[in-house]
Amino acid sequence: MAGLSFEFFPPKTEAAEANLWSAVERLAPLKPDFVSVTYGAGGSTRDRTHACLRKLIEETSLTPAAHLTCVAASKDDVDSVIDAYQAAGIRHIVALRGDMPDMGAFAAHADGYSGSVELVEAIAARGGFEISVSAYPEKHPESKSIEQDIDLLKAKIDAGASRAITQFAFDTQVFLRYRDALLKANIDIPILPGIMPTTNFKGARRMASLCGASVPDSLIAKYDGLEDDLAARKIVAAEVAAEQCKTLLDEGFNDIHFYTLNQADLAFDVCTELGLGAKR
Ligand code: FAD
Repeated sequence: MAGLSFEFFPPKTEAAEANLWSAVERLAPLKPDFVSVTYGAGGSTRDRTHACLRKLIEETSLTPAAHLTCVAASKDDVDSVIDAYQAAGIRHIVALRGDMPDMGAFAAHADGYSGSVELVEAIAARGGFEISVSAYPEKHPESKSIEQDIDLLKAKIDAGASRAITQFAFDTQVFLRYRDALLKANIDIPILPGIMPTTNFKGARRMASLCGASVPDSLIAKYDGLEDDLAARKIVAAEVAAEQCKTLLDEGFNDIHFYTLNQADLAFDVCTELGLGAKR
């Protein structure tokens, strides 16, 4: 059966908190392999991320994966977060370099890890964690080429990563071309394509342009004229994501990672339609 995972972010308000936990409750019966919790830019959600992970451990039977970035933090600070994760019973870290708090050019903290490779090395050296890392099918915006990105992914694997989760892509062909490029580079760890079903297409396009993800004209056409029709956007979003997942699974991907944006309905509908997860 295909593997399944869901990403959540730590909520800021009480209303958002209630929303998150109702999403978790709805998706939990699908028995995902893991659920991941993001770490706000520059560590800004450190405590909220931790609280969220603790609640997942204490109150659900889900397996949490904790995101961790090393930007704008000393090695000691980052190590103390790793230790806190370990003490809380977390056994899976998604290790990332992260973005500068002002989103400017990356510069390592004077006493910090130089980037994701060193962070992966540090986590691996402590032992006891599965380590996942990021991958960019349309290359990272700072990267000169897809080859440079793939070299970096290789370095992260050599440092101890055993799984990569991709940036979301709306163009399924992008994932297929990336798979071929990774095969050519002899990369054979599990690659989890990131799927982001969302009714907020305007917001998704904004996000896509920030992280260098292309938006196919055919997708833009599907949403054309639906700006004031949430129900129709919901149908389109679920259809589009289901089609993406189906193609990816038919093409040999074994796992799907959903960027849920803390909303359960679309991910749940897609999984149910495709028979993904435990509840069919
Ligand atoms: P890396 O993969 O380490 O590097 C990204 C790019 O930087 C490379 O492609 C390359 O161009 C350049 N680069 C890095 N090192 C070198 C080098 N030695 N030489 C040359 N070029 C280099 N952000 C958060 O703040 N919190 C999160 O929880 C979070 N979760 C994420 C989860 C996933 C699955 C993904 C895909 C991204 C996530 N991000 C998160 C965003 C991420 O932090 C940013 O994209 C950031 O800019 C890069 O971090 P990274 O670990 O992906 O970078």
